[in-house]
Amino acid sequence: MTLSKRINELNESQTLAMARKSRELKAKGVHVINLSLGEPDFDTPDFIKEAAKKAIEDNYSHYSPVAGYLDLREAISEKFKRDNHLEYIPDEIVVSTGAKQSLINAIMCLVNPGDEVIIFTPYWVSYTSMVQLAEGVPVFVKAGVEQDFKPTADQIEAAISPRTKLLIFSSPCNPTGSVLTYEELSEIAEILRKYPHIYAISDEIYEHIVFEEKHISLASFSEIKDRVITVNGLSKGYAMTGWRIGYIGAPKRIAQACDKFQGQFTSGTCTISQRAAIAALKADPSEIGYMREAFYRRRNIVIDLLSEIPGFRLNLPKGAFYVFPDVSKLLGKHYMGNKISTTEDLCMYLLNHAHVSTVSGDAFGASNCIRISYAASENDLIDAISRIHEAVNKLK
Ligand code: PLP
Repeated sequence: MTLSKRINELNESQTLAMARKSRELKAKGVHVINLSLGEPDFDTPDFIKEAAKKAIEDNYSHYSPVAGYLDLREAISEKFKRDNHLEYIPDEIVVSTGAKQSLINAIMCLVNPGDEVIIFTPYWVSYTSMVQLAEGVPVFVKAGVEQDFKPTADQIEAAISPRTKLLIFSSPCNPTGSVLTYEELSEIAEILRKYPHIYAISDEIYEHIVFEEKHISLASFSEIKDRVITVNGLSKGYAMTGWRIGYIGAPKRIAQACDKFQGQFTSGTCTISQRAAIAALKADPSEIGYMREAFYRRRNIVIDLLSEIPGFRLNLPKGAFYVFPDVSKLLGKHYMGNKISTTEDLCMYLLNHAHVSTVSGDAFGASNCIRISYAASENDLIDAISRIHEAVNKLK
């Protein structure tokens, strides 16, 4: 066989596969409302764009240090202090090509073949594939809608073995919108304190999109900070998905390892984006508050409308921009002789009959749920959910 075992065993990102299918329908002239993608529908704020234009004029056109410009890492260090009460010096910070690369760097630097990695489930799609690329063994700790999709401390502890190396979660969570509270994080910190061979990756990429709760960093529990890798980036909170800026704050030995790893893969990320990121991070976070407010309004609209659909069980997402209804009651129903056996069938039915694209929960380790992104205009959301409601009503 030509291709490696590694690539043959890798899953294709299902969110991208769904987007491709809806593009095909659109090309045929169908008005598809896309609620499948994981990015803000806002444009990058002007003051950030201006900084990028200036960077081009100022000829930031050469390689940067692998870990990112020092003044960017200083700005990140200040941001960690200002927003998260965390002390990370620039040597403990590595800037990468999106949080995605920050994650794979950290996983490749920590996980040996056969090491177990506890993944809170539902999880963000790529965690599992990344662990598999590192030849680690994913261990899923599952939580359903009835527990707000958050595993309990007992469940987490029960999954620990002598081979456990790492645990990974996102809070706010993609795909569930759940936000871990101070108490819940302190229980996780307590577990880590008890098991000194375990590290944690805390993915905080949605930190600026939190409603009603307060975002807390796991590393703020100081006694375990030297085993936590805090992952963050500008993609979601600053509407900068295409700029590809992610970063970690981590103990120096781990940051140095990530720098070494990245040095052989991609080197420093785009210099223009790095200069723009400095402007973004130095600004008061209130500059981007309008996006959080819009997401909050949309969340309320979406939850109100979805909760009227029979067969949809919902939690109340406190962050990010996703709802993750449990639709198990709809499985086994029929439409014109066709059975909806899986959530993938349901998503395909919604795409073909309601012209709304969503993502099956399989991609996130929860085969009884579907993910609906509300990074869309209020009008589109209202229209899309009424179409979903109508389509669900037709199931027998
Ligand atoms: N972590 C989570 C939880 C995400 O949802 C995403 C993007 O969807 C990422 C990381 C990757 O972010 P980036 O676009 O900065 O690579």
